[in-house]
Amino acid sequence: MIWDLAHSAGSMPIDLNACDVDLAVGCGYKFLNGGPGAPAFLFVAGRHQDEAQQPLAGWLGHSSPFDFDPVYAPAPGIARFLCGTPAILSMSALDAGLDVVLGVDLHDVRRKSIRLGELFLDLVSQECNDDNL
Ligand SMILES: *Cc1c(COP(=O)(O)O)cnc(C)c1O
Repeated sequence: MIWDLAHSAGSMPIDLNACDVDLAVGCGYKFLNGGPGAPAFLFVAGRHQDEAQQPLAGWLGHSSPFDFDPVYAPAPGIARFLCGTPAILSMSALDAGLDVVLGVDLHDVRRKSIRLGELFLDLVSQECNDDNL
C-alpha cells in the first residue's frame, strides 16, 4: 500500500513506521512550504529498501554513480530511489520552508485543526438548521 501524504506532511503528526506503512509519497509545496515546483518526496520502509525496484532508475541511484557504468546496479538502501541530478535551487527553497515546519509542534497544529473543524461543524449546525433556511 502507498500512502499519499500531500495533505498530512507538515500539518499533522504521522509515524509511518509505527503505522507499518510500506511506501508513501508527498509533495513539498503545500504544508512543507517549498513553493511551486518544490521537490516531492518518497518514503520506503526499511524492510523494502534493498528489494524495491526504482522504475525511474538514473545515474544518482547507481551504486557507483561516478563510474558511469553502462550497466545499472542500484545503490543499497534508500539511495537507489534517487534518479537524476537534484534540483538544487528548488531544494534550497524547500530547506528554508522546512525550517518553519520544524519549529512547530505538529501535535499543537493538529489540536488546533480539530478545534477549527469542530467550530465549523457547530456553526453549520447553528446557521443551517431549518429555522435559518
Ligand atoms: C497536491 C496533491 C498531490 C501532489 O500533486 P502534484 O501537484 O502532482 O505534486 C497528490 N495527492 C493529493 C491528494 C494532493 O492534494
